[in-house]
Amino acid sequence: MKILVIGSGGREHALAWKLSQAAGVEHIWCVPGNAGMARLTRTECVAVPGTGLQDVAALAEMAHRLKADLTLVGPELPLVSGVADEFAARGLRLLGPSKHAAQLEGSKAFAKEFLLRHGIPTGSLYGIYDSAGDAYSALCAVDWPCVIKADGLAAGKGVLVAATPDDATAFIDRVMVDREFGAAGDRVLLEEALRGPELSYIVLTDGETTLPFVATRDHKRIFDGNRGPNTGGMGAYSADGMIPRELETRIQETIIQPTLAAMSRDGHPYRGFLYAGLMLTSDGPQVLEFNCRMGDPETQAIVARMDFNLAEALQAATEGRLREISMRWKPGASVCIVMAAANYPGEPKTGMAIEGLDAAAAVHEAVVFHAGTKLQGERIVVSGGRVLGVTATGADVKAASARAYEAAAKISFEGAQYRRDIAASGVPDASVRSVSQSV
Ligand code: AMP
Repeated sequence: MKILVIGSGGREHALAWKLSQAAGVEHIWCVPGNAGMARLTRTECVAVPGTGLQDVAALAEMAHRLKADLTLVGPELPLVSGVADEFAARGLRLLGPSKHAAQLEGSKAFAKEFLLRHGIPTGSLYGIYDSAGDAYSALCAVDWPCVIKADGLAAGKGVLVAATPDDATAFIDRVMVDREFGAAGDRVLLEEALRGPELSYIVLTDGETTLPFVATRDHKRIFDGNRGPNTGGMGAYSADGMIPRELETRIQETIIQPTLAAMSRDGHPYRGFLYAGLMLTSDGPQVLEFNCRMGDPETQAIVARMDFNLAEALQAATEGRLREISMRWKPGASVCIVMAAANYPGEPKTGMAIEGLDAAAAVHEAVVFHAGTKLQGERIVVSGGRVLGVTATGADVKAASARAYEAAAKISFEGAQYRRDIAASGVPDASVRSVSQSV
């Protein structure tokens, strides 16, 4: 099997790493990939064709020219831009939802209206506004804190849980007046703030059969103790027993299955990865957001525990044969620590040499996934905000976490920053226990 992987982050490195070890995989192209992906066996990085990852015709031409048997899409932009429809029209195999179905991520208004229409648990909506004036006026009638969301894709930065009307007004200004996220801020949503621990629950579906991945928890804020601004994600972990069996059943029965069934009923059957960002509230799990692809850094923690042939599973999913696949998972836990560049999540400082990668990879059961890295001559240098995802497995969260931190300590680059409390809430997590007792 020859596979094209679209993307260049830690998520894509983790997926390509697993695929490069899978029996039956002959060759992998990464578009555009990164310095870590370029080092994998049977793997080659190629430049993004056309005008960018939203140029779905150019991506399809590339897959056709390379004779790729399967294309795996890491980021949301190609999916929301209709890459699945383009590939389908040309008879090319790609795993991912259609442009319409990808609106579950591409438009928060679409997702919220869908959830409310089908009675799938989510925070209540105050309104959707297409002018800053209307949004300001609506603030008079909300409870605080209140959540403000830019409608479109904003790289995880288009959401604010606002404590006060002043914070809310300032954010609405940034989104709708300064247009910090461009057209993604044409509309904003105001919604109820939910409380509880968050959980990332990701499934793979071929439209008939749905297989869940191990549940994960992501750490979005830049600083320890969940302080500071939101980032793309500073770490993630997964562990046996992280959520009780009955809670997982409830997530499947009240959220995942109804979502997939309703997408089919609405005429847009969903295929690919569906990521449900959940709040485990005292009233049960509720949807914060959907993503139409795997998460980053959740993928790194998930892939580290995969004990099955990922290439076979992905191929089966594109051919509607997912029922033939059973996913096995390494028992225990995995932890991924993101090492970020100086000044991230602001404009990152780049170009610094990264040392100690081989020493880190030599730590037992550790693997270093690259994200914002590139080769400069013989050296690997920082080229983006989130630089590396140092990932390890172990018998439990404590063991996995100790290995991941041991590996991270061996890596250095000027201005490196990472959180010291990834997975520190441990398992079982007291807050989840109390939620599951009440559901
Ligand atoms: P989203 O991109 O919609 O997942 O939002 C990013 C982050 O904002 C989430 O991971 C939550 O931490 C927070 N968030 C989003 N929606 C809500 C909500 N209704 N209540 C509380 N926090 C929220």
